[in-house]
Amino acid sequence: MNIDLHVHTQERSACGQAPAADQVRAAMAAGLDAIVFTDHHRLAPAERLASLNATHAPFCIFGGIELSLDDEDFIVLGVPDVRLEARAWSYPALHAVVRAAGGFLALAHPFRYHPDIRVDLEQYRPDAIEVYSHNTPPAAAARIFAVAAQLGIHPLSNSDAHTTAALGTYYNVLARRPANERELIAMLKAGQFSIHNTPLTNRTTHGR
Ligand SMILES: [Zn+2]
Ligand SMILES: [Zn+2]
Repeated sequence: MNIDLHVHTQERSACGQAPAADQVRAAMAAGLDAIVFTDHHRLAPAERLASLNATHAPFCIFGGIELSLDDEDFIVLGVPDVRLEARAWSYPALHAVVRAAGGFLALAHPFRYHPDIRVDLEQYRPDAIEVYSHNTPPAAAARIFAVAAQLGIHPLSNSDAHTTAALGTYYNVLARRPANERELIAMLKAGQFSIHNTPLTNRTTHGR
């Protein structure tokens, strides 16, 4: 099952250039089976996610969030708490809230804005780190893999798509189809996926 854990929508991201429904259709056309909406400091309403899922099943749409704090960006899944939308988080505080909720926490596009990582990943270990995305410097890949190995966390490949055209190149292939968001998070934490960074041009060659 091909999943992209980092997708933006026009409805909730000022920089988003495609509405949610267009992102879903483009993801399906690109050969993905599931996406996670991670708008900047905004959660997708549960009713909206339910209606998109009902319309596009068996394609799956999950709701997450992207937070900018302490000079880094993080994607969070499995914490449907409106307090996340506040901009005042520190990384240790966010880490505690995500852990308490049993959510999934990943560092998005490290080294995008500066040549170092500005949070303490050793003391506050995320679950994963984005090694590939449209906004991760390709030259940083080896360094990011090294950070992942050192911390014992999983590398991820996500689009960080703000347009429909950005979908389908960076994605993760889950070992099986999760029954729900909790199972998806468990699989991600257990590393039951592989990462891909080449276009999904022939979907029949990929496991669904
Ligand atoms: Zn953005
Ligand atoms: Zn993003």
